[in-house]
Amino acid sequence: AVKAAAPSYASAAEALHTVFGYESFRGNQAAIIQQVVDGGDALVLMPTGGGKSLCYQIPALVREGTGVVISPLIALMQDQVDALSAVGVRAAFLNSTQDAGERQRVERAFLEGELDLLYLAPERLRVSSTADLLDRGTISLFAIDEAHCVSQWGHDFRPDYLQLSMLHERWPAVPRIALTATATEQTHLEIQKRLQLADAKHFVASFDRPNIQYRIAPKNAPQQQLLELLRSEHAGDAGIVYCLSRKSVEQTADFLSQSGIPALPYHAGLDTRVRAANQSRFLREDGIVMVATIAFGMGIDKPDVRFVMHLDLPKSVEGYYQETGRAGRDGLPSTAWLAYGLQDVMQQRRMIDQSEGDAEHRRRLGMHLDAMLALCETVECRRVQLLAYFGETSTPCGNCDTCLSPPEAWDGTIPAQKLLSTVVRLQRERNQRYGAGQLIDILLGRMTAKVTQNRHDSLSTFGIGTELTEQEWRGVVRQLLAQGILAVNSDGFGTLLTTEASAAVLGGSRAVMLRREAERPVRASRARRT
Ligand code: ADP
Ligand code: ZN
Repeated sequence: AVKAAAPSYASAAEALHTVFGYESFRGNQAAIIQQVVDGGDALVLMPTGGGKSLCYQIPALVREGTGVVISPLIALMQDQVDALSAVGVRAAFLNSTQDAGERQRVERAFLEGELDLLYLAPERLRVSSTADLLDRGTISLFAIDEAHCVSQWGHDFRPDYLQLSMLHERWPAVPRIALTATATEQTHLEIQKRLQLADAKHFVASFDRPNIQYRIAPKNAPQQQLLELLRSEHAGDAGIVYCLSRKSVEQTADFLSQSGIPALPYHAGLDTRVRAANQSRFLREDGIVMVATIAFGMGIDKPDVRFVMHLDLPKSVEGYYQETGRAGRDGLPSTAWLAYGLQDVMQQRRMIDQSEGDAEHRRRLGMHLDAMLALCETVECRRVQLLAYFGETSTPCGNCDTCLSPPEAWDGTIPAQKLLSTVVRLQRERNQRYGAGQLIDILLGRMTAKVTQNRHDSLSTFGIGTELTEQEWRGVVRQLLAQGILAVNSDGFGTLLTTEASAAVLGGSRAVMLRREAERPVRASRARRT
């Protein structure tokens, strides 16, 4: 006969003390747990490190039956199950890494009522035998972890998540709790709709991470900038450095190692064993710097990550916030630093142009990028801007780069007009298009071979831009791109085009405000403890 796992604990508080050894609930954990223990649905938006796991683990211990946790983090299931077993929770998982024998043992334990928690990879539900198995046992709740994976709008879409609406259709009486650390209004609504959580109670925690200092710096010599930062502010600290490509991951890891910093690479192209070994060293040893693509980090619970550095521009604010959120889970001061330059904008625009998918998909990618660029170019508090993106209003934090050394805004209308009219002239008079380098050479009046060859010295804008340095001109180009006043051609050569917005600037009816790059380095401040 099939048995249901008997409730292991009489109350949530008892489970919290006895199993996990914690004194009290944090934030709205108690209310969330109560909702699920009482059989209701919950939609939980809580930042990384907020304590989401207890919100389903404790109800699973208090309710009769087995709590089924849907999670995309197959690589972490073993760790999660081990950690739970270590504190006496009866947990197991089913995923594609197991052989038939292991799977059968887990299935039997589930049917015998011997499991408090069962972790399932979402693709398991594609197999009808999994649903049949669940039918034959007793389920106390469904927890849908990383619920933002259901959102096509979001940055981490997984098609297998779409079928999770079946949970409600097939087991309407079982309470469901969906959890995510991604909190834009758009994602929030999409989770509610796609997972059929119309009756769920929503629990939205503040996304502020006051102990993280956000800094975004102009990218000049990124590896050198990184090294100086590590030496001056984070000697001996553990942290993560994110790079866009596998190649730059390896180069940066090599560079840091040769500079005497214990750095390890992590990306999807490395052998599984190397990856696992590097991850495990990062978690267990002190002061390791993990240089990684964004393949690294989801579900990693290391409290003392002191910094998260981005050497390339993230594709979205959501991604950036999740990645930086891995710093400072212990509440101690931590740094989120991003180096960002003209090449990043060009490269990301090119990637969007060349991406697969329809126009709508590209439009979404473009909007994600624009929001990220707006964060980079803001002259206001980074934190205010970040939190506003997640629907929270706040006041300047006093602990980000723009608060600590406010950038000057300057009127860049005239330089913008000079640049745009050069683009227009080349196109109209010569039917030519160029990238930033040649445009800047023309504005600075440089007699390069390419200038002489193309007789660009006869253009009326030749040499009219000597009031700015090359570096400053690159800043102007970057900011005009970010503001949509200039665009990258989709020819793959990075040539620049005017846009609809350019006309107003050229005609003098639109002023262009630009951010002056901070010359002074930002001093690390003492952050508040959470
Ligand atoms: P999330 O999944 O939201 O990123 P976790 O569930 O991994 O966060 O929790 C983050 C850390 O906080 C873990 O180390 C966890 O043990 C700890 N934690 C969670 N709830 C509490 C609590 N009520 N009291 C003390 N520590 C807690
Ligand atoms: Zn600030």
